[in-house]
Amino acid sequence: MKFRTRAIHVGNEPDPQTGAVVPPIYLATTFIQPGVGEWGEFDYSRSGSPTRKNVETTVADLESGSNALLFASGMAATHCVTMLFKAGDHIIATRDLYGGSYRLLHKICDRSGIEVTLVDVTKPEELAAALRPQTKLLWIETIGNPLMSIPNIRQCVAFAREHKLLLGVDNTFASPALCRPLEMGADIVMHSATKYLGGHSDCLVGALITADPELHKRLYFVQNACGSACGPLEAYLLGRGIKTLEIRMREQCRTAMQIAEHLSRHPKVTRVLYPGLKSHPGHDLAYEQLGGLFGTMMSFEVDGDTNATKMVCKSTNLFGLAVSLGAVESLIAHPATMSHASYAPEARAAAGISDRLIRLSVGLEDPEDLIADLDQALSQI
Ligand SMILES: *Cc1c(COP(=O)(O)O)cnc(C)c1O
Repeated sequence: MKFRTRAIHVGNEPDPQTGAVVPPIYLATTFIQPGVGEWGEFDYSRSGSPTRKNVETTVADLESGSNALLFASGMAATHCVTMLFKAGDHIIATRDLYGGSYRLLHKICDRSGIEVTLVDVTKPEELAAALRPQTKLLWIETIGNPLMSIPNIRQCVAFAREHKLLLGVDNTFASPALCRPLEMGADIVMHSATKYLGGHSDCLVGALITADPELHKRLYFVQNACGSACGPLEAYLLGRGIKTLEIRMREQCRTAMQIAEHLSRHPKVTRVLYPGLKSHPGHDLAYEQLGGLFGTMMSFEVDGDTNATKMVCKSTNLFGLAVSLGAVESLIAHPATMSHASYAPEARAAAGISDRLIRLSVGLEDPEDLIADLDQALSQI
């Protein structure tokens, strides 16, 4: 079956008791067992629950994995991966990194003696230079944030295999509708399912997907021991959102392309970062790795100072000034003070995130309305 069909049917068996086409939400935290010392499929909802399991089945299938785990947030999922490691171990991560992942790696993992090096993963020589005997994990993002850098996933797989590292891919910005890193040989795919998978800004969920059942067991052990799974209502909303993932993604990507082209021709815009534009350094690679679509995220700079930048951010009406992304509502954000505020200012400059950068998440509204809204905001400067 094709992706869109699986998004609707896998993990969504009709309820055998009532025939309900939508499986019920199981709120139970504990489950009656068949006998003393005998265990049913579920015992306690931290360890597993029917609603969560249904949606894990869907997510694993769409990412071409064998198993998925759902967490209370994307950060809880990423944290679970880092808990596979111990003092002295070393992680190499992309420099074009989600702000919260930066904070986790530099302000939490460092407390337990795990060391981190950030590199430009689009440069193989930087990757090689960062390698240490203690390196255990390479962590990349399918589309980097907020500069939209595109790592060569197959090259990262080859590097990880050669040096016996795990390769983890934060696939949030692409979603499995555009890219499935496990098919290319990645070990772990992570999602902030809060974003495209949920798609409606109403459920906070994280996901880890694996193809190797042994690795799944190790991650499940950590999840169960730490108690970081998501609740049944969130799992349900996620499963509901996923049914329209592909169609939302296609339409939003189409609109994003139109907006990127419009902005790149706009006299008040000096720079547009969108992988769909031929001017983007990762364009060809993105075309190949993202199946001919380029995502719905872009960054741009306007002709003016920081005040002009802030004026544009607060002058849009349809694009809401808010963090997050990937939902049906379009959003505008200022990475330096919002998603990447947890970076030290020097680290932010080193990562190429200027105070003049504006980030857009293109939603499902009509493209003409969105373009008119941006034009109206740009006319304020
Ligand atoms: C939002 C986001 C996260 C964190 O996920 P939460 O669900 O907010 O905890 C991680 N990576 C990327 C790329 C994100 O956009």
